[in-house]
Amino acid sequence: MAASPQPAREARPARKLVLNVSTCRRTHLLDITPLVMRAVADSGVFDGICHVFVPHTTAGVIINEMADPHVARDIESTLERLVPKDPRYLHAEGNSDAHAKSALVGVSLSVPIEDGVLALGRWQGIFFCEFDGPRPRNVHLRIVPDAE
Ligand code: ZN
Repeated sequence: MAASPQPAREARPARKLVLNVSTCRRTHLLDITPLVMRAVADSGVFDGICHVFVPHTTAGVIINEMADPHVARDIESTLERLVPKDPRYLHAEGNSDAHAKSALVGVSLSVPIEDGVLALGRWQGIFFCEFDGPRPRNVHLRIVPDAE
């Protein structure tokens, strides 16, 4: 039997992996930049996009300054002030503030890859945002090369 003609398959698969991270405080911005940089380097992708997704409802991900660790702590305390724990929330689990903080910061972002590295600004880092820790968490990466 003759093989049926197949459309040409591109040898440029998206790279997928899951980072396992552990947070240390109830509210904790954890710098995951080195882990994402390593994943991009291992992928061999030279130009493309790294998509970062947090599959949790009481956590998130942001890009902000990593050079001075006080900035992350200030963002933590700002979010605590903006969304305090409050017994009047309806959600019986008692962590509605964490859900609201997750909704505020969002659970995904994309970073360009240029010349094999994340095209972050000089002071930028990628932070996993824990709002109901400490606990183990997952971060899903998808590293997608540009179409040629
Ligand atoms: Zn909840």
